[in-house]
Amino acid sequence: MKPMSDGALVLFSGGQDSTACLAWALDRYARVETVGFDYGQRHSVELEARLAIRSRISREFSAWRDRLGEDHVLDIRSFGSIADTAMTTDRAIETTARGLPSTFVPGRNLVFLVYAAALADRRGLTALVGGMCETDFSGYPDCRRDTLDATERALNLGMDQGFRVETPLMHLTKAQTWGLAKALGGEPLVAITVEESHTCYLGERGALHSWGYGCGACPACDLRRAGYEAWDVQERPEFAG
Ligand code: ZN
Repeated sequence: MKPMSDGALVLFSGGQDSTACLAWALDRYARVETVGFDYGQRHSVELEARLAIRSRISREFSAWRDRLGEDHVLDIRSFGSIADTAMTTDRAIETTARGLPSTFVPGRNLVFLVYAAALADRRGLTALVGGMCETDFSGYPDCRRDTLDATERALNLGMDQGFRVETPLMHLTKAQTWGLAKALGGEPLVAITVEESHTCYLGERGALHSWGYGCGACPACDLRRAGYEAWDVQERPEFAG
């Protein structure tokens, strides 16, 4: 076995999907590091969520504690500034009508992966793990597996590497992602995901709902709530109303 083949770098935003990806990687790899991107988003909320999830996983999962390595936050605010610029154009209005957040930047995952791969090269990690998913977000062309296969090939050619871009959530619904969390870490991981992970576009952390914190009205909250409720009815039919 090659010495570098046992490490993973997880693209970790502090959301529900990347929390499931982190657990998935910790279940498979002896060394797991996390990377987050500061592109000028609701920085403090997401940063706090990332750290809270990492710290609870370390505390509550002894088998994963020793595998969880360093966290990295990379500043890519110049890329994020393209979103602000684009909001004054017709293209941004079109994007908003498709239900994507106004902060959506085209090709965001391509940029994330280039930065992540450069970091992984330096850290000696070969698996790049991300929560991209075709099932719920068909509007995001950079979440499709075709795009990621092409990106993986470009990274390996351009960096003379053998990276694997791994996307464990690619064909899962949001309900199935809750099921994956339960399968990997049981109720404790479900609780960490509900209580600590952050998805809401508005950064709302006021009231804790059964599915987590959030405004309950933005597209991200809608998707998260619907996924949780669909999973919960299946998982705990005795409590279904
Ligand atoms: Zn929300």
